[in-house]
Amino acid sequence: MSLPDAKPRRGGVKFALLHHGGCDGTERFHYRVDGAGRWRAALDEEARGQHPRTIDVLLEGDFDRDMPSDSQMEAVKRLLLELKLRYPLLVVGAHRQVRGERTTCPGRRFPMRALAAWAQRDLLAQRDARLAADVERQYSRI
Ligand SMILES: [Zn+2]
Repeated sequence: MSLPDAKPRRGGVKFALLHHGGCDGTERFHYRVDGAGRWRAALDEEARGQHPRTIDVLLEGDFDRDMPSDSQMEAVKRLLLELKLRYPLLVVGAHRQVRGERTTCPGRRFPMRALAAWAQRDLLAQRDARLAADVERQYSRI
């Protein structure tokens, strides 16, 4: 599944901020990922989310209480790969990492540490593999 087209946002996009259904922030989420592992656009990327330079991703569910499903985690990883291809400088973070925010979002039981480790290593490898495959498709061998 690919991202909908988007115009560049003023000031650029720097962070993909993760939230859960128990988020006490505003309702401005660009993408929603359900428990069955489907994601959908909920707000144009050029529109401001919860913060000026964020793409906000909501995972449905209350992860102060429950754990996200494997298929939900796989879906958010696929979405983050698409976003990383669109925004090369994108950093993945948790809502609670924003300075001055008093929240547990995306939930005490959300595996943020594991996802952050994935984002620093596997996400880059997957992006590079995708870019290499795109180059292969566009150019024939010399
Ligand atoms: Zn949140």
